[in-house]
Amino acid sequence: EAKARGGDRRHWFDAAMDEQAQRTARLSADLLTALDRDELFLLYQPIVELPSGRATGVEVLLRWQHPTLGLVSPDVFIPLAERNGRIVEIGRWVLENACRQAAAWHRRFGPHAPSKISINVSARQLAEPGFVGEVEDIVSRTGVDRASLLLEVTETAVLEAGAPLEAVRELRERGLRVALDDFGTGQSSLSLLLTVPVDVLKVDKSFVSGDAADHAGAVIVEHLIGFTNGLRIEAVAEGVETEDQAHRLHAAGYSLAQGYLFGHPAPAADIEAGLLPVPLAQAVADRTA
Ligand code: C2E
Ligand code: MG
Ligand code: MG
Ligand code: MG
Repeated sequence: EAKARGGDRRHWFDAAMDEQAQRTARLSADLLTALDRDELFLLYQPIVELPSGRATGVEVLLRWQHPTLGLVSPDVFIPLAERNGRIVEIGRWVLENACRQAAAWHRRFGPHAPSKISINVSARQLAEPGFVGEVEDIVSRTGVDRASLLLEVTETAVLEAGAPLEAVRELRERGLRVALDDFGTGQSSLSLLLTVPVDVLKVDKSFVSGDAADHAGAVIVEHLIGFTNGLRIEAVAEGVETEDQAHRLHAAGYSLAQGYLFGHPAPAADIEAGLLPVPLAQAVADRTA
């Protein structure tokens, strides 16, 4: 009987594995048509100054509204898109639409528009031979100010794909800014800073609000800021969720932060509502109503 139960369990386990594999395969296949079917959209999360909390920029975060499975997290579908190659086309779409939005905000809100737009870029995109040219193309087509762009790459991405280093250098030579995202989660974070020239370092949320944040995380966060100051790199603390975390980051010397405390990723219209002083915002709303 025990043997039979063991058999059942194995059967159950295999079935669960099958289900997972099938779901992954299905998502991967559906991803091929997601763009054509208009299922992808962008959200924007404020990046703020400390201690004022005033938004100086936004990070562009991709979302996939699957027709039957609902909202799929980018943590799930970006790796699939990287594996099936569709990330190149999707990433191009993100860049184009984010730049178009940034240019539109600039035209409409002038000095009140977010002055910095952060866009996540996959290593697969960076490794494409034509990537830098494509970015140039999008910049000139959309009319976005290149100085307002910040391209975010993860350290694992840069390490795994090898070639992107050259692309990072070239982007910076052309006046585009580059950020190292999720800093501290990779294998060789500190040594990477010596070889990859970046403008901004985004300290991963696991050090700021994760389980590690109480102990070693706090120490690392406090010491990283001296490091970035010395290298003339801007630091952004990710995943700030509480007032207490914000105060401590400010006390440690951080002047830029991002997290649910200041705002969740939101549609462009929500960002716009926060851009103008209230009477002006009301006037714009009245005009467009
Ligand atoms: P990321 O670039 O590190 O983006 C920050 C993530 O942290 C976002 O998750 C954001 O919603 C989340 N976050 C922001 N504030 C807080 C907070 O206070 N607490 C917590 N726990 N989380 C917070 P999201 O939007 O699910 O994106 C996940 C990842 O997917 C991104 O991490 C990025 O690596 C990737 N991703 C998103 N959009 C794109 C894209 O357009 N292209 C590429 N290549 N990757 C993207
Ligand atoms: Mg990012
Ligand atoms: Mg990050
Ligand atoms: Mg991340």
